[in-house]
Amino acid sequence: MLTLNYSIKELNRIGSATAIKLRRLGVEIVQDFLFYFPFRYEDFSKILKIKDAKPGMSVNIVGQIELIQNKRSPRRRMFITEALVRDETESIKVIWFNQPFLTRTLKEGDAVSLAGRVEEDFTGAVMMSPVYEKVRNADWRGLSADQRGINAVHTQGLVPIYHLTNDLSQKQIRYLMKQVIHLADRLSDWLPEEVRKNSGLLGLGEAVRKVHFPKSNKDIADARRRLAFDELFLIQMQSQLIKKDLDASRAEPIPFREEETKKLIQSLPFKLTDAQRKAAWGILKDLGKDKPMSRLLEGDVGSGKTIVALIAMFNAALAGKQAVLMVPTEILASQHYESFCRLLKGWGIKIGLVTRGAKKTNHESGIMNQGDEKNRDSEFIIHDSQIIIGTHALIQEKINFKNLVLAIIDEQHRFGVEQRKTLIKKTSPEGDFTPHLLSTTATPIPRSLALALYGDLDLSIINQMPADRKKILTKVVAEENRGKAYDFIREQIMKGRQAFVICPLINISDPLRLSGSEASKLGVKSVKEEFEKLDKAIFPEIKMGMLHGKMKAKEKEETMRDFLENKIKVLVSTSVVEVGVDVPNATIMMIEGADRFGLAQLHQFRGRVGRGEYQSYCFLFSESEAEKTLKRLNALTEHHDGFALAKIDLKFRGPGEVYGTMQKGFPELKIASLFDYVLMKLAKEEAERIVNKDASLDAWPKLKEKLGEWDRQTHLE
Ligand code: ADP
Ligand code: MG
Repeated sequence: MLTLNYSIKELNRIGSATAIKLRRLGVEIVQDFLFYFPFRYEDFSKILKIKDAKPGMSVNIVGQIELIQNKRSPRRRMFITEALVRDETESIKVIWFNQPFLTRTLKEGDAVSLAGRVEEDFTGAVMMSPVYEKVRNADWRGLSADQRGINAVHTQGLVPIYHLTNDLSQKQIRYLMKQVIHLADRLSDWLPEEVRKNSGLLGLGEAVRKVHFPKSNKDIADARRRLAFDELFLIQMQSQLIKKDLDASRAEPIPFREEETKKLIQSLPFKLTDAQRKAAWGILKDLGKDKPMSRLLEGDVGSGKTIVALIAMFNAALAGKQAVLMVPTEILASQHYESFCRLLKGWGIKIGLVTRGAKKTNHESGIMNQGDEKNRDSEFIIHDSQIIIGTHALIQEKINFKNLVLAIIDEQHRFGVEQRKTLIKKTSPEGDFTPHLLSTTATPIPRSLALALYGDLDLSIINQMPADRKKILTKVVAEENRGKAYDFIREQIMKGRQAFVICPLINISDPLRLSGSEASKLGVKSVKEEFEKLDKAIFPEIKMGMLHGKMKAKEKEETMRDFLENKIKVLVSTSVVEVGVDVPNATIMMIEGADRFGLAQLHQFRGRVGRGEYQSYCFLFSESEAEKTLKRLNALTEHHDGFALAKIDLKFRGPGEVYGTMQKGFPELKIASLFDYVLMKLAKEEAERIVNKDASLDAWPKLKEKLGEWDRQTHLE
């Protein structure tokens, strides 16, 4: 007997290859599989009489095979399977190409259900390559289609279509789904009964059943509404819980030191954009209050959010207090650390860096020059610095700050609520103040939506790029032009510039849990392989470097530093460079397997170049040359605005494909659309009501558990 927790390997007739492919889609156990939703449906809900099937129509017919045989086409080596299928009204010719094995499955006298397009050849109407399935050879003759009660999965009714990767077939998925769908009723419904009733939503089991095998369009709509609501509701619950926490607490005001701030801004190597000024001003005003700020700073990649954060932290330091900046990667942390040391030189501000691999400060006996940093332990740094920059390591160490008044979370979507909460709670042990909280994001969503989505946050938007930025010339490069792309890169390097090469994997096995040969069969490029190839065969004369998440922190930093200092010319990397790293001399971003990334993420990669004075380029290589994929990637050549790209991505891929591992930077929505305001509003009201009733959630233990699980799943790296 199957249960929800069984590994999918236990399913009937699932090959190990199929199991591996499903795992790549994030499906490990039966329960995961039930949550692998179709993204659209083929409508075969009307069974036509054969006499009514006319060329040009997409139809479903049911009949008996009168004749079936294989032929060779005049053009040799092509098999044609020809059949004649008859129902009570008439017969029709059916043709399949290159599937000679069909005659082993389908025999004369079999009853079949066929779905596909009717075309016309010199003999009349022909059904071309229909989807077929055998149905019970019951006494269908003389009965109307509805009376026959035929139980077909692939060719009748509303047939689910799933987003699938390489050579998993729709038929396989439906066949497997049929085996487990009865288990949907055992899913534990974590949504509070009252919320479900208030909002007129289906139960979870019913929704899951109907989303896979709907009987009507209403079933689809009802199922999707419930499942979409769930996603939005969890996001809203999160926001409302944080809001509740903050509303009850007080903060220490940070006075605005206008004169010094002006001086700092004047000392910058560039002029702030108006948008940056406005954002900084809004933040400084909030900091002056005794209510904790809770603000989201949103701005496209490269719009200059860091400097705005710096200005806020600078004021906290001048007040003699502590400010902390938590970032998602070590590389980014050390880069921010270095630029902060540089920009704040001469102010006598103590700056510290705490990551797993690097712990250092610019101080101890007076403020040292860059390069003189001492290695210290985290406790010393966290107690003694005024501006502290770090990664998750900051919260993993059980150390409290001395007098933290401002916490900034860079790229907030990379952190979970629990992590954010923990950081805020690490405030000074003696006071009961809550620090001001600023989160930054490059996730390009419009104001109205951000407010609905992150109901707990105030919002500052930097909607303007620094004036000196040039558009990055972007091209989808066909495989046959790979050589030319390499030549171009070589030329740029001769001119003194640098290049990134991004690959989807570290090495060919691990992350997707594929064996080496499977991965190379799929054509997935790995950093290690690509590095070897480029280093030995393509750019033997050029100094190359490699970067990925499994390297030791120290190695990563050394590599990144060498790249920054232009000692490494070509850096082959996984998506660890995605976030925030700044190398103004780099002008080329080449991306392998670009089809594996979301447009928003590709846009983030591209934002790594074009940060200096030079014209920059982005080359996209795709493993799939499907028209749809190329069209999607080509959106990057035309659009240079993250929001437009995000919208296009949703349209092309559908929320389903972004499943699991690949896409970051968006709340993980499989079913709900970011543009679904009405449902979002409903979810917000319900979450608000629940939290106001009992923020401990003790009355709804299943919801509480679900929230914890969801938070971990969505945010842990
Ligand atoms: P993001 O918003 O993606 O975090 P950063 O803060 O890292 O962007 O800024 C990107 C680059 O732009 C940095 O090198 C920064 O020094 C530079 N920069 C920031 N503001 C300006 C400005 N007003 N004019 C020119 N360059 C700027
Ligand atoms: Mg940034």
